[in-house]
Amino acid sequence: MVAHHPPGSFEPSGSAYVDRLHGRGVELVGGSVVDMAGIVRAKYVPVRRLPAFHQAGMGASPSWSVFTIDGGIAFTPSLNVIGDRRIRIHPEDVRVVADGVGWAPGDLCDQDGEPSAMCGRSILRRISEKAGLTAYVGAELECTLLSPDGGHASTHPWAPYGVRTSLERSDLLVDLLKAAERAGLGIEQLHTEFAPDQLEISLAPDHPVAAADAVVLARILLGRVAAKHGLLVSFSPVPFAGEGGNGAHLHLSLADAEGPLLSGGDGPHGLRREGGAAIAGILDGLPGLLGVYAGSAVSSPRLQPGNWSGATVCWGLENREAAVRLVAATPGSPHGASLELKVVDPSANPYLAVAALLGSALDGIRRGLPLPDEVPGNPVGADLDLPTLPSDQAAAIDALVASPLATQVLGAPVVEGVAAVRRHEVATYADRPLTETTRALRLAWTC
Ligand code: GLU
Ligand code: MG
Repeated sequence: MVAHHPPGSFEPSGSAYVDRLHGRGVELVGGSVVDMAGIVRAKYVPVRRLPAFHQAGMGASPSWSVFTIDGGIAFTPSLNVIGDRRIRIHPEDVRVVADGVGWAPGDLCDQDGEPSAMCGRSILRRISEKAGLTAYVGAELECTLLSPDGGHASTHPWAPYGVRTSLERSDLLVDLLKAAERAGLGIEQLHTEFAPDQLEISLAPDHPVAAADAVVLARILLGRVAAKHGLLVSFSPVPFAGEGGNGAHLHLSLADAEGPLLSGGDGPHGLRREGGAAIAGILDGLPGLLGVYAGSAVSSPRLQPGNWSGATVCWGLENREAAVRLVAATPGSPHGASLELKVVDPSANPYLAVAALLGSALDGIRRGLPLPDEVPGNPVGADLDLPTLPSDQAAAIDALVASPLATQVLGAPVVEGVAAVRRHEVATYADRPLTETTRALRLAWTC
């Protein structure tokens, strides 16, 4: 797991870190930031320049935040050709991600060294530090293995969760576990998923920033290990039109001085009043934050009823069609109770998605929102009076821009940036056939 140090907490002499990494064979060190379109971008230095990567940071123009998924730039009045930002990493966060290569998650800073308003990682760090609660986040990553030409990886029929489909990839899965061990990534579980060539890995719960760092690290390792086996990996929400999608579900648990908020209370399934208010806050904020959770040009085709993507704005115990699935504290849940936000997909910037999730839960607690009625059955096709999600990408962006909560949690510059890159996607892809768009964006979020 990644340690997520704020940049200021590093002693000036970095030579001990350089020596230690050199001793592990590291020559090249990368530091990454995630942009508003959810793409991980990086700069690299020779390992001896690690102290400079920490102290001064490596340059990135403000437009880095609004690069688009297809190699363009969605300039805004405040994000244009003028100015410079610095990517700063902490030497203790460096992990070995390939032979000779180290990587660390970066903070996007202004030239004075302070976090930029566009730094999702700093926004998330601030929210978690000010929460007054202990939060743990566990991410699930779904992805799709591809052949080298970007098509389907296997030619045989697929068996969801099949022992054959996993064991046919056992060399890759074993290499993934070895890579995770070397990089300090906590993988809890892995399996072949429902859609053809789909894999899922579940990551160990961690503090919010570390959990989002781990998502980026896991994607890098999956990309490297797939390449070693002559394959590519897609993190597109819908890699192939008409097939199952990739989610990026997030589990959240919260505790105060009295203990967990999601268990030990006298509400439904042991929820405490504050735990119920957290669920209410997440659901209340969901339509306005969908543009952050699942805002890309290939997000809405995944978010359809029947896809287990949580396309209905409701909650329920172990309900896989509800936007919020409550996992209660039972012997079958070793980490205790959590709530799973299922709408999130891998096109989301993980720092912003976790910030939105945590921020909306805290908002519900602050406002003392009452827990809505549980939906105990399948909401799909049922005659229920529930709030609805924005119907397409354009509507999700409009709702994001109009959401006071989004601006309060993420800040106006981030909302402006997300809207700019996603509106570029609407303008470019909304009128194209889905098959063409899924093909064009299949590798957009691959690390
Ligand atoms: N693949 C589904 C999604 O797009 C999730 C399936 C599951 O419940 O794991 O969210
Ligand atoms: Mg899954």
